[in-house]
Amino acid sequence: MTIDLKNITEHDITCANCQACCCRMEVMIISDTGVPDKHVSVDEWGGETMLRLDDGWCSAVDRETYLCTIYENRPWICREFEMGSEECVEVFNVVD
Ligand code: SF4
Ligand code: SF4
Repeated sequence: MTIDLKNITEHDITCANCQACCCRMEVMIISDTGVPDKHVSVDEWGGETMLRLDDGWCSAVDRETYLCTIYENRPWICREFEMGSEECVEVFNVVD
């Protein structure tokens, strides 16, 4: 599907037509919400982020539905990220 970005507004942006753009950003894990270890990347200083695979997406994204497979345990940052927010519009336009 191709979306004409020139005519798109924040009101047209929904998770249903976005293919989880925000799940391609670096997501730091700053509190324990129960993210399974297999989705956690630990740097040399012990900092934890969501693991991203070679395709750029967080390893917890379902590659067919673009839904979060660990929704109940997703990191705090993911919980705070709002659809239609300034950051959402920005990442939608950059990534898509
Ligand atoms: S919150 Fe925004 S960037 Fe993330 S999936 Fe939904 S529309 Fe896309
Ligand atoms: S944990 Fe879920 S909501 Fe957060 S970046 Fe990964 S797939 Fe997206």
